[in-house]
Amino acid sequence: MVSHFELYELLERIGNVLRNEARQVGSEYGLHPVHVEILHYLQRCNLFSDTPAAVTEFLGITKGTTSQSITLLESKGLLIKSKDQLDKRISHLKLTEQGQTLVDQICPPARLTPLLADIEANNQQLVPTLKQLLSDMQQGNNKVCFGVCKTCRHHEIRSEKTFFCQLTQMTLTRDHGELICKEHEL
Ligand code: SF4
Repeated sequence: MVSHFELYELLERIGNVLRNEARQVGSEYGLHPVHVEILHYLQRCNLFSDTPAAVTEFLGITKGTTSQSITLLESKGLLIKSKDQLDKRISHLKLTEQGQTLVDQICPPARLTPLLADIEANNQQLVPTLKQLLSDMQQGNNKVCFGVCKTCRHHEIRSEKTFFCQLTQMTLTRDHGELICKEHEL
């Protein structure tokens, strides 16, 4: 039986290995790990969560790091920044086609894909268990939880193609349900 100390150390080691892998793959494109993490986040977040403030909060980095990283990623043509239609103080960040292609190639790094697929196929309970662990940890730290939309208490399925967000009072297409939202509540 794995003790909780071993489990903690394993999770820490896995995190370190993933970060090192991201560093190695990202450096081939002139990117630091934080740049790769920002691109990966923007690929998965919804329209309420694609702001510099949400990036800062999700990654737990400083506003300065977010701002410098966005400038660099823009200069490389990997993302574009645009003003909100209603509130010009807010900016939205979107991956360009080049940014999308890059994230598809490196997240997860190609070397790890077969390993992850194999483990997932042979351990059906692993992903649900880790999801539960993440959820419990997020609830304990009193921070925004950034959950996947379809598991939110405001998510109300209305048809085969749409759902209704009770919080924002918007009807959105079902594919939005797969994205990360900073307003998510269990
Ligand atoms: S249902 Fe919840 S997670 Fe989905 S968009 Fe609305 S607030 Fe965000």
